[in-house]
Amino acid sequence: MSSEKVENTRRAMRWGLSCDKGVCQERVSKNGKEVVEVCKFKPTIKQVEENSADSQSCSYYLQKYEALVAKHSLWNYHAFFQIMKFNKKLFADYLDRKVSVFDEAHKIEDQIIQFVGFDIFAGQVDECNLNSEKYDFSDLDSMIKLTDDIAYSYANKIKNIKESPAFQNNPDYELISKLERRYDKAAQAKIDILSDKDNFVVNDPIRDLNGNFRTISVKPIDISKFAKTFFDTEYQIFMSATIAKQSFCENMGLEKDDVAFVDTPKSPFPIDHRTIDLLNIKRLSYGSTEEDEIEVIKTIDRILDEHSTVRGLILTSSIPRCQKIIRYLSPKNTRRIRLCHSKNKDGKTQDEVISEHASDPTGVLLSSSLWEGVDLKDDLSRFQIIAKVPYPNYKEKRTKAKMDKFPTWYTSQTLTKLLQGFGRSIRSNDDWAKTYVLDTAVNNVFFKAQQMIPKAYYDVLGMDDL
Ligand code: SF4
Repeated sequence: MSSEKVENTRRAMRWGLSCDKGVCQERVSKNGKEVVEVCKFKPTIKQVEENSADSQSCSYYLQKYEALVAKHSLWNYHAFFQIMKFNKKLFADYLDRKVSVFDEAHKIEDQIIQFVGFDIFAGQVDECNLNSEKYDFSDLDSMIKLTDDIAYSYANKIKNIKESPAFQNNPDYELISKLERRYDKAAQAKIDILSDKDNFVVNDPIRDLNGNFRTISVKPIDISKFAKTFFDTEYQIFMSATIAKQSFCENMGLEKDDVAFVDTPKSPFPIDHRTIDLLNIKRLSYGSTEEDEIEVIKTIDRILDEHSTVRGLILTSSIPRCQKIIRYLSPKNTRRIRLCHSKNKDGKTQDEVISEHASDPTGVLLSSSLWEGVDLKDDLSRFQIIAKVPYPNYKEKRTKAKMDKFPTWYTSQTLTKLLQGFGRSIRSNDDWAKTYVLDTAVNNVFFKAQQMIPKAYYDVLGMDDL
């Protein structure tokens, strides 16, 4: 959908543009009374099903409801999981399908985790008239208490509104149902957490520059018992070039015997289009010496010299590592580098940086976040350098807890990201790029993950005799 700043919202809707208002129902005051007003452009699913929706209806809801009433539909994870978690009953008639296909299945855990546990925001604490300073943000019991107080506060609000004369004269059910949803969410989170306390971790709170609390999340280590909510059809097909059956089943709570696994024996792309050179320069970790780090960067410099007339990609594990690489490259090669993160200086988006890269014939992207989800096809990248193995950040509390409890998960996460990285620059049969891996730790990952490596990578990794 295109986006354009238009003053006249009615005209914007007619052009099928997206809405920057984004409040599909809101509390407004009418005749001195607070009511919930539903946006006049919002169609109902029945209207869409019966083809009787106004042609000027909101294009977001038209698309969403059209997808729900269609025989087959394509969803992004967030939109689909949102329905599965919160609106399954409401849309039950439309969700009764035989098969669901989940693409990029190696990312499902990251998606599910957004829907389990509890995220608490400063605004919500204020809305419930609670004082955030009374709670200990490093303690699970204190966070359960906060969740409970939030639920209690919403329950009270609902009771007071229902008992008020204003409500009895002119009931405002939209407002009540909004508060009830908030109550349900907090109450359900408390039940989930209490049902399996050892499975939950409190992440470090996010604070603003003045140290004020902004948000905190309480997340499960093991998501397996929550995953079923999202997989409701009789058959599910999970697709990915980088998953291993055992760890995937363990993680998603699937019975291994219920799952058929298709491990494509050969990559469809010719081997000489996707060669991987394990250069084994030095092992990089938190404790690496300065000399080792610099030796790796000097090797990056040399590879950049060897590929001085084409575009390329350098992947590493963190933003400070990106900055260090830039500091030690030769001035000539530094000029070729474009840092590319999910947020960039000058507010540039990742796509904007990549399109600048596309117009620089010898440009090189340097990133700790382009391991997945980016398509550097053909001349956009003819070589890629994996400077550092992408271990998950164990300084994050949930990662550390999960790594302690499920060591295989940690290895499989690292392997998946590494293999995803290998694929960034080879996007079709005719596409080609050379990959260099500099961090010696890669051998350890391959050794530990031997049973998890998909067969399609055996040829390039010299594992054909396995
Ligand atoms: S219903 Fe559509 S047009 Fe109306 S506020 Fe919501 S997104 Fe915007």
